[in-house]
Amino acid sequence: MTDESRIREDIVRLSKSLYDRGYSVGSAGNISAAVDDGILMTPTNSCWGFLDPAKISKLDYDGRHVSGDKPSKEVFLHRAFYETRPQTGAVVHLHSTFATALSCLEDTNPDDCIPPLTPYVVMRVGEVKLLPYVRPGDEKMGEMIRDLGGRYAAILLANHGPVVSAKDITSAVYAAEELEETAKLLVMLRTAKTRLLTPNQVQELRTVFSGY
Ligand code: ZN
Repeated sequence: MTDESRIREDIVRLSKSLYDRGYSVGSAGNISAAVDDGILMTPTNSCWGFLDPAKISKLDYDGRHVSGDKPSKEVFLHRAFYETRPQTGAVVHLHSTFATALSCLEDTNPDDCIPPLTPYVVMRVGEVKLLPYVRPGDEKMGEMIRDLGGRYAAILLANHGPVVSAKDITSAVYAAEELEETAKLLVMLRTAKTRLLTPNQVQELRTVFSGY
């Protein structure tokens, strides 16, 4: 099996797993992964429970559609990560319930919208920036991500949902799941007095588990 066919199978398998566990409903969200000569991406209006590896969209480095079904209209969200973070091997965009709930709350801190509640969100996701709302499909969103200069592996789109990048598709899916679970804790604990990890504890995690 070539690398590309293995990555196509991984996209199908992991998309179905996310769909089966409610991280994606209907045709919401999109996943992409880098291959030798471009990017593979879930097609527009496709349901993650029933993807066909042969129909996954393929784009070249310049974003031109070269094969498979038509790519998601949110392709530029993904390309902005590949362009600004050269270590990016995959990007997962969800409309998952709790991360999207956080993205709608007026008092979410836009510079650190997923505070360090657990070590795992620090290790797998890092700091998350909230970007202002723009219409889905508006290319301005790609520009806003590019303007971050690659400083964030994950962002939250206001009133929309998270976008998470990582070195490969499995890591990106795990990070997206970690972000969603932490968002769930944050929403659950919203009215409770909460103890966050201290800056020293966060620094220790970054030092010991430095990776992507
Ligand atoms: Zn979306």
